[in-house]
Amino acid sequence: MTGSTPAPTGNARICSNCDGFGSVAITLGGRDRHGHLRTITAHCPACNGLGTVPARRTREGARA
Ligand SMILES: [Zn+2]
Repeated sequence: MTGSTPAPTGNARICSNCDGFGSVAITLGGRDRHGHLRTITAHCPACNGLGTVPARRTREGARA
């Protein structure tokens, strides 16, 4: 392991919706006046961009 991905701790585990990548930059296809790619950052709604979700005692989907 290189530590490049968030490791699950005792209190959290990898978000199954984003597979640990809670926030991603999405290119808009254009460049600003500085020549930089215009991007927006999207956060995973399930984990709020954290990439991990609090551990639950119940299995996924057991309760809403
Ligand atoms: Zn997520």
